[in-house]
Amino acid sequence: MKLGFDNSFHREMAGFYTPAEAAPASAPALLAFNDLLAARLGIDRAGADDAALARLFAGQDMPDDAAPIALAYAGHQFGHFTPQLGDGRALLLGEIIAPDGARFDVQLKGSGPTPFSRNGDGKAAIGPVLREYLVSEAMAALGVPTTRALAAVATGDRVQRERGHPGAILTRIASSHIRVGSFQFFAAHFGAGHVERLSRYSIARHFPELADSANPHLALLDWVIGLQCALVASWLGLGFVHGVMNTDNVAISGETIDYGPCAFVDHFAVNRVFSSIDAQGRYAYGRQPQILHWNMARFAEALLPAIHAVDPADVEGAKALVEAIPDRFRAGWHEQMRAKLGLSAEENGDAALIDALFAALEAPVGDGGGEGEGTDFTLFFRALAADLRGDPGPLAALSPGEALTRWHGEWRARLARESGDEAARAAAMDRVNPLYIPRNHQVEAALAAAEAGDMAPWVALLDVVRHPYEARAPWADYALPPPRDAAPYRTFCGT
Ligand code: AMP
Ligand code: MG
Repeated sequence: MKLGFDNSFHREMAGFYTPAEAAPASAPALLAFNDLLAARLGIDRAGADDAALARLFAGQDMPDDAAPIALAYAGHQFGHFTPQLGDGRALLLGEIIAPDGARFDVQLKGSGPTPFSRNGDGKAAIGPVLREYLVSEAMAALGVPTTRALAAVATGDRVQRERGHPGAILTRIASSHIRVGSFQFFAAHFGAGHVERLSRYSIARHFPELADSANPHLALLDWVIGLQCALVASWLGLGFVHGVMNTDNVAISGETIDYGPCAFVDHFAVNRVFSSIDAQGRYAYGRQPQILHWNMARFAEALLPAIHAVDPADVEGAKALVEAIPDRFRAGWHEQMRAKLGLSAEENGDAALIDALFAALEAPVGDGGGEGEGTDFTLFFRALAADLRGDPGPLAALSPGEALTRWHGEWRARLARESGDEAARAAAMDRVNPLYIPRNHQVEAALAAAEAGDMAPWVALLDVVRHPYEARAPWADYALPPPRDAAPYRTFCGT
């Protein structure tokens, strides 16, 4: 199968990566291939059987036009700067150009050690690979910018984590793998010239319209801030917790990247954390906007030498952009929440209404006497739309406590000032509020089955999360949260 590589990063950015290769895999076997994405990318698998795909996406049959490299980057991890990270378990095979002209990286994740692996094995276990595949496909279906999964391959080898697991490799497709941490690496080790080169490459590849700006590096900062604000707003709107928003996991393309310990909130709590290593709650659900701000301040710092070289006065402009982030974020976030709540006009009281909702969602369900467990985040917004259609059943089934009942009254009063037809409003809400998300307990069950050799539950769940908005009777169970007495959900970083 020909992918038709055209490797601009390899060609133009010598010094920003190191050549690397995939480790031998003893028995590559195809676990999943994303035909929908392949079609979008213009990849024709005709003539390639599963065995050929498995060898290709295990890095065992390297196409002639690939140029496998590991990218250099640094990053702030949980607030602490690590000057050298880099692709320690990933191999960029090259770039392909889709029929519509869009350029994408094709990267193997888990294909063995690279010069950046430090003490790691460069490998990945089947669970995290299938998890990233599933959740990134769900995010794509939910309309959130994201890297995607083209293939998952079992290597036939074991990888050792807290115990042994079957090894696997994910083929990740991204509009690029340039991260905030990429800029930090070159700012820390080489200074203005390298930062400027990376910035110019990034602009040419992602935002060519910025090239003619008076200060393109300042324009890049502005643009990336805008994309990240929109991205984090869409995460919050879905109850998504990325879990490891280190600067090396922030793509300048604005795509969600690095699905490690991510998870979706079910019973709502603003400080919900799933990651086993995030003891301080740094990357909790409700902290994500602050972390976005912090990460963009680090991006601005890394760009500063290049911004300054064009015009020292623009350093003030960069500061102003960073300072404006909280307001910029909130404007986009409120717009998103208005859509979720069926509001089209903008009113002064909207911010208070939205804030009150989150407090009420967190309040214990029922009469307030039970455990401090909030309302299911996903089902709640669908229940509001049902309520508008004259069916109060789904809302009642969520046992709203006093606070949520009061909020519901305020929302109804607010809606009364909107014009337009309620059925149309409810339908519009159902187009932005998903019914099916990758529920943590469903994901876990599917991964456990896959690890034991049964891919069927994973395949079924993938089908569900690819159709997030339209209710289907046979999928009723997939919409349900876990039982309230289920053990707290924990996720793990290591893939
Ligand atoms: P992450 O927290 O997944 O974003 O990874 C942070 C850094 O650790 C990146 O530089 C990864 O390449 C590296 N890394 C994570 N797991 C491994 C592994 N098993 N082998 C080598 N490097 C790894
Ligand atoms: Mg990472």
